[in-house]
Amino acid sequence: MNLVRLVGPALLALAIAGTPSAAASAQQEPGQLDMGTLRQVREGLHVVEDRNWTPVVPNVGFVTGSKAILVVDTGIDRASGEAILAAAERIARGRKIYVTATHFHPEHGFGAIAFKGRATLIYNRAQRAEFVEKRGKYVKLFTDLGLGKLVAGTRFVMPDKTYADRFRLDLGGRVVDLYSGRAGHTRGDQIIHVPDMKTVFMGDLLETASFPIFPWYPDIGDTDVSPAKWLTTLGWAAALDPVIVVPGHGPVGTKADLLGLSRYIAGVRDEVRARCTTAGSTAGLRSILEPELKAEHREWHLSEWVGPSIDAFAKDYCPSLLVKP
Ligand SMILES: [Zn+2]
Repeated sequence: MNLVRLVGPALLALAIAGTPSAAASAQQEPGQLDMGTLRQVREGLHVVEDRNWTPVVPNVGFVTGSKAILVVDTGIDRASGEAILAAAERIARGRKIYVTATHFHPEHGFGAIAFKGRATLIYNRAQRAEFVEKRGKYVKLFTDLGLGKLVAGTRFVMPDKTYADRFRLDLGGRVVDLYSGRAGHTRGDQIIHVPDMKTVFMGDLLETASFPIFPWYPDIGDTDVSPAKWLTTLGWAAALDPVIVVPGHGPVGTKADLLGLSRYIAGVRDEVRARCTTAGSTAGLRSILEPELKAEHREWHLSEWVGPSIDAFAKDYCPSLLVKP
C-alpha cells in the first residue's frame, strides 16, 4: 500500500508520527509491526526495531529483570498489542509483565487494549490526561488520513498505576526509572531510563537519521509541541550519559543522536529568532527555512515534518508571526 496515493500529498504532509517517507517499507502495511525485527540489543534488552521506516509503526522495547519485564510502547491496534504481548510472554517466561507508553500518540499507545488484565499498565498523570483529552481527536485525524481501520477498534484503557514525577520500577536486579515532565513532542512525554544499561527510551523525542516529528495540528486543537521544552528535555536526557538510545522510530541509536538533534533544534531556533522581524509571516519563514533545512540534511528521513515544525518554532520563538496571515 502506498500512503501517498491513499491520503494524497497534501494530507500526507500533515500526517502523524512515523508516517510515510520515500523510504517507507515495501513489505509492511502501515501500522503492521514486523516482529522479525525483534533483536536482543544486549543482555536484558530486546527491541522490535523500526528499521524499515514502516508508516505508523514504533520501536517497541522489552527490559528484563529477574522477576519482571517492562514493555515500552504497544503498537497502534489490538493486533499489534497482541503480537507484542506474545513476544513479551516468550521473553518473560512466567515473570510479571509491566507495560507503558512513551506518549499518547496512536502507534505508541493504542495497542494497550491488548494488555488490559494481562499486564500492569503504567502511565504518568500528564500522559493519562493527554490520552483522555486528545484520543478522540487523533482517531478522527487518523480516520481522515485513511487509517481508520487501524484505530476504529481500539478504546482507551485506564492505567493500573499512575505517578506524578518519577516512578522507580524494580524488575529484580534491575531498576527502571520512568520520568514525567519531559515534554516537547507532546505534553506527557515519558522518558524511560535503565541506569545499569545506560539506556534511555525517548519515544518521539528522537527519531534517528531523521528530522524530528512535530505534531502541529491547529485544525484539531493540538499545538502543544514545543521546541523550547524539547531542547531542555534533550539536554536532560544527554546528561544521563546514555550509551544506548532507543528512538520512537528508526534504528536504535546513541547519545550522539541526542546531541545531533539538540544542535538541529538549537540551529533552527537561532534562524527563527534572526528572521523574526523580517519574515513577515510563518509562510514567509517557511519559504526561507524549509528548503535550507532539507538541503542541509538530505540523508534524513521524514522531511515532510520540516514545514509544520516552522509554525511550532514560531510559537516558541517568534509568536507575533503566528497571528499574521
Ligand atoms: Zn508521537
